[in-house]
Amino acid sequence: MECQGVSSSFGSAPDRYERVFRHSADALFLADAAGMLLEINPAAARLLGIDSGVTARSLPGMIAEPAQRADLMRRLQTDGLVREGRVGLEARGTVIDALITAAAIHGASGAIEAFIGSIRDVTLETQTCSFLADMARFPAEDPNPVMRVSEAGVLIYANTASAPLLDAWSIQVGQALPWEPLEQVRRSIAAGRTCEFELMINDRAWMMICARVPGRRYVNLYGLDVTARRDAENEVARQSAELARANEQLTAVNERLNQQAKRLELIVRGIGDGVIVTDLEHRVTMMNHVARELLEVSGRTGTGGMLMGLLGDCTPPPLRFREMLEACRPDQAEEILLVLREPCPRTLRVVASAWVDPTGRVAGRVLILRDVTREREIDRLKTDFVGSVSHELRTPLTSIKGFTKALREDGAMDESLRNQFLDIIDQETLRLEALIEDLLEISRLESGRLRLERRPVDIAGLIESSCAMLSPMIEASALDLKLDIDGPLPLPIGDHNALQRMLVNILGNAIKFTPAGGAISVSASAGDQLTITVADTGIGIPQTDLPHIFERFYRVHRPGMEIAGTGLGLAIVHEIVQRHGGAVNIESELGHGTKVTVDLPVERELISGE
Ligand code: ADP
Repeated sequence: MECQGVSSSFGSAPDRYERVFRHSADALFLADAAGMLLEINPAAARLLGIDSGVTARSLPGMIAEPAQRADLMRRLQTDGLVREGRVGLEARGTVIDALITAAAIHGASGAIEAFIGSIRDVTLETQTCSFLADMARFPAEDPNPVMRVSEAGVLIYANTASAPLLDAWSIQVGQALPWEPLEQVRRSIAAGRTCEFELMINDRAWMMICARVPGRRYVNLYGLDVTARRDAENEVARQSAELARANEQLTAVNERLNQQAKRLELIVRGIGDGVIVTDLEHRVTMMNHVARELLEVSGRTGTGGMLMGLLGDCTPPPLRFREMLEACRPDQAEEILLVLREPCPRTLRVVASAWVDPTGRVAGRVLILRDVTREREIDRLKTDFVGSVSHELRTPLTSIKGFTKALREDGAMDESLRNQFLDIIDQETLRLEALIEDLLEISRLESGRLRLERRPVDIAGLIESSCAMLSPMIEASALDLKLDIDGPLPLPIGDHNALQRMLVNILGNAIKFTPAGGAISVSASAGDQLTITVADTGIGIPQTDLPHIFERFYRVHRPGMEIAGTGLGLAIVHEIVQRHGGAVNIESELGHGTKVTVDLPVERELISGE
C-alpha cells in the first residue's frame, strides 16, 4: 500500500503502515484477488488459529456456509468493498461468528489485484445478544402464565399466557387477586419461601408456583396447566386401584386355593387309611404316611418309585395286581384283597379307581388301603367261636337227649343205672349252664351291666376253695398241685364271686392244658400289691399267640390237638382283673409250661386272719 507525499518524523508512510499492520489489535489481512491470504498480522493469526507466516490459505475457503462465501466474494468482486460482512468462519477448530471488512486494491490496469481487510470475532457478542433477546422475550413469550403480584395482592404484571386465569378470575393488571389464589400468595409471603398449590379453573388443573423475590415487595406467580398430567395421574390411580382390587381378588383366590390344598393335604395326611396316587405308568406320585406304614416303606422313598416294586411277595402277585389296577375305571371302584408276606404278613383291602385329568383322560390310579388283618382274624375267630360254641352246646345236649330217651324207653331200668344216667344228665346240664354262664358273663362284663361288689376278699380262702372245686379234674389227670400262700395276706377290695370266677378260669386252663402227671403250683404273696401266680408244666402257648391271648374268642390253633373251649375264659379273667384295678400277665414257653400272674391292689390295713 502506498501513501505518496506524506512523510513525518515517525518514518516513511510504508514503514508506518507496516508498523500499524503488525501491532494492530484488530485482525488484519492481505489477500490476492482470489482470496488467498498473502499476509496476516499476529492478531489475525491468533483469531484464525494459524501461524502468521503461514499463508496460502483461502479466506473464502474458511467460510463455512457456501452461500455466505459466494455472497462475500460476489460483493468484493463487484463493489470492491465489503463492510462488516457477517460470516461463520472455520477457525481454531470451531466456527466463529465473524465480521469481515475488506476493500479491493486495483492494479494499474484497473483490475483487482488484492484485498486488504480486517476480521472481527463477534461470537460472544452474538451469543450475548441472542441471550439478551431471549431474556427480553421472557416472560412475555413464555407459553405458561407468568404474573407478578404485590405484597398487597394486586396484580402488577401478567403475560399473554395468563389470559385464561385472568378471565376466570375476572381481573386485569392493577386489580387484586380473588380470594383463593390470594390466600396462597399470602401464605407464601408469610412462609418466606417458594410454595406450590393447585387450582381447578374451568375443569383444568393448574399447578401454581409462588416464588418470593428476595428484597422485593412482590412475588412471581408461575402457572402450569397440569390437567393432562392430573388426568394421567387419575387414570394411573384408577388403574392402580383396579389392579389392587384384582390383586386382592387374586390373593383371596390364591389364599382359598392354598387353604383348599392345605385342607386336602391335611385330610390325606390325617386320613386313617393309606392313600396312594400313581400315574399311568404306576409310578407313585403321592403317598401318605399310613400307606408308607402299611407297605413298610421308610422315609421319603416310595414317591417316584414304581408301585409294584413296593409290594414284594404278595397275593395276587405284582403283575396280576397291576392288571387288576389297569382294569379300573374312573366311575367304578374296584376292591382288591392284597395279602403281603414281607416283612410281616398282613392283609390289605385296596379300593382302587382311575383318576382323570382335566381333559377327561385317565391319568393314573388312586388306591385307598386299609389293614384288614385283624378284621379277618376276628372273622376267623368268630367263625371258630360259633363252631366251638355249637360243638360245646351240642355235646352235652346230645348226651342229655340220649340218656333222657333211654330213661323214658326203658321203664324196667334198675335203680342204680337210672341214678347213674340221671347223674350224667345233671353233669351235662351243669356243663351247659357253665358255658351259657360264660357267654352271659362276658357279655355282662363287657357291656358294664355287671355290678361288682366292693368288699374285702380273703384271697387265700378263695384259692383254697377254687382248688377244692377243681380237685376232681386235678385228680382225674393225676396232677401234682402245690399251694404256696405267703400269708397273712392283705385283703383286696372286690367282688368275691368275680374273683373266684377269675381263679377258676386260670386254674381250669392250667389243668386243661397240662397233660397227665404234670404239676401245677399256685402261690400268693404281698408286696406293694397282692400277687397271685398259677404256673403249670403244660403244653404252653406259642409266642405269636401271646399278644392276643386275652382277646375274647381267641383260641390257639393246635392242629391235631383240639382241646374244648370257647376262647372266653381269659377274656373274662382280663375283664375282672381290670375292673378290680389290677393287671394280668401271661408268660409261656411252648412245650414247657405257662405262668399266669395277677396283681391286685390292696388295702394295707386289711390283713386276712387278723
Ligand atoms: P378256652 O376256652 O379256649 O380255654 P381261654 O380264653 O381260657 O379259652 O384261653 C384261650 C387260649 O389260650 C386257649 O385256647 C389255650 O390255647 C390258651 N391257654 C390258656 N391258658 C393256657 C395254659 N395254661 N396252657 C396252655 N394254653 C393256654
